[in-house]
Amino acid sequence: ATEAEEKDLVIIGGGVAGYVAAIKAGQEGLKVACIEKRGTLGGTCLNVGCIPSKSLLNNSHLYHTIMHDTKNRGIEVGDVKLNLAQLMNAKDTSVSGLTKGVEFLFKKNGVEYIKGTGSFASEHEIKVQLNDGGETSVVGKNILIATGSEATPFPGLEIDEKKVVTSTGALALEKVPEKMVVIGGGIIGLEMASVWSRLGAKVTVVEFLNQIGGPGMDTEIAKQAQKILKKQGIEFKLSTKVVSGDGSGEKVKLDIDAAKGGKAETMEADVVLVAIGRRPYTAGLGLENIGMELDERGRVIIDQEYRTKFPHIRCVGDVTFGPMLAHKAEEEAVAVVEYIKKGYGHVNYGCIPSVMYTYPEVAWVGQSEQDLKKAGTPYRIGTFPFSANSRAKTNLDTDGMVKMIADPETDRLLGVHIIGANAGEMIAEGTLALEYGASSEDIARTCHAHPTLAEAFKEAAMATYSKAIHF
Ligand code: FAD
Ligand code: NAD
Repeated sequence: ATEAEEKDLVIIGGGVAGYVAAIKAGQEGLKVACIEKRGTLGGTCLNVGCIPSKSLLNNSHLYHTIMHDTKNRGIEVGDVKLNLAQLMNAKDTSVSGLTKGVEFLFKKNGVEYIKGTGSFASEHEIKVQLNDGGETSVVGKNILIATGSEATPFPGLEIDEKKVVTSTGALALEKVPEKMVVIGGGIIGLEMASVWSRLGAKVTVVEFLNQIGGPGMDTEIAKQAQKILKKQGIEFKLSTKVVSGDGSGEKVKLDIDAAKGGKAETMEADVVLVAIGRRPYTAGLGLENIGMELDERGRVIIDQEYRTKFPHIRCVGDVTFGPMLAHKAEEEAVAVVEYIKKGYGHVNYGCIPSVMYTYPEVAWVGQSEQDLKKAGTPYRIGTFPFSANSRAKTNLDTDGMVKMIADPETDRLLGVHIIGANAGEMIAEGTLALEYGASSEDIARTCHAHPTLAEAFKEAAMATYSKAIHF
């Protein structure tokens, strides 16, 4: 490559990790190129993850509400029909608007966007197979690996994205399946189970552990969530493992085994969603060409400054350590560019919120009660149910609670767990409080507007060191 082609930073992957780093690098005046093979920017999150799932969750919730929850509110509706094709169109419009928006931001910040598949030719040179045919190469003083993750396959069950689907197929089904089985009761499983159950499918979630929600969800909250989702019509088989499957016939067959004794049985479904986790994606990246190692779970190994064993090659997002979340990838993307440009950056991994966008939503930040118990850390709990919150009552939306956990000596906040209508927005306050090292009393003495759901947050804080007023 000639001198002119050398960039300060070459990024492989245009997902949240890669595109945010590219924009930030452009803003910092670095000469930057971002290689993405998908044909659109935004990665899993914008194309087949966060965004399309939230579109389907929002609109299926509206549909379900109109079907089942209007009469007692004094609204009589006539003939309600589902137009699945239009529901999918609305989703596609949100996705394309956002992915094009990122492309616009690339132009605005002087980022060169290379459409193709990147692989290491050497420690500084990336070869690109262009989507339009042909090949080019780009040389970087610094290189950032941001190639993300993919669905973990279920051994022996071939994914066709029609009958046996990952989340990608589950976001684009052409008709509502009569029977759907979801393997894995983590966040993907529960969000997609909610969508298709609301639209009329009979959904069963099979989960290996004795708790839904995947890692990190507080057990007390997970139990409430399960009870509410069951009331909505989703069936659960916990402590149950899918051992094998067969997707060759008209129906998909699954052999399941109760993890603790119990009876083995065979289940049948029109559609099976495999949602047993995601794994780092490095296929075709040519890591072997430079002798870059992965850990036993396929993650790129990095130090605290996101450096691989080659100090100029760094890595952020789903393809390396930490929770596979878009906002975690985004924080790392900003920090990694700051390391490159200024030599310092920071992400507080103890303070990354999680949200499950079911109805009601479940959101948390910091430590769960079971984490603290396991670590032998003393703690004090304050809770407040939405059934005692005035706004939740006027909205006829009283399911759920706020649970706050603080240090019994110092009252410093250790964790916040919310299940309720607006939990995903409300958790921002808990995250800020945790980040600032607030005590529960700091929150309780902060004036909260009335009538809002956020008052439940304040009252849970009051209950942590003293007593709530309204419960
Ligand atoms: P990705 O988004 O996977 O992006 C990596 C990109 O790199 C991809 O576009 C890929 O095409 C490209 N690439 C890979 N290899 C190459 C190569 N060799 N050359 C060129 N390009 C390459 N997280 C949340 O925080 N909130 C949510 O609500 C949420 N919902 C989700 C719903 C679903 C159904 C799924 C599947 C995930 C969801 N996530 C959510 C997780 C979130 O999508 C990921 O954490 C996030 O996308 C990670 O960003 P990333 O940039 O590291 O990887
Ligand atoms: P997950 O790890 O959260 O959950 C997978 C579940 O499958 C676990 O509970 C596990 O015990 C279970 N399981 C594994 N093997 C099984 C088997 N053979 N039979 C039955 N159950 C089995 O993974 P996920 O739900 O696939 O999500 C992947 C990633 O995407 C997560 O890191 C998640 O945070 C992220 N994501 C986030 C959001 C969000 O933030 N709203 C939404 C979707 C996905």
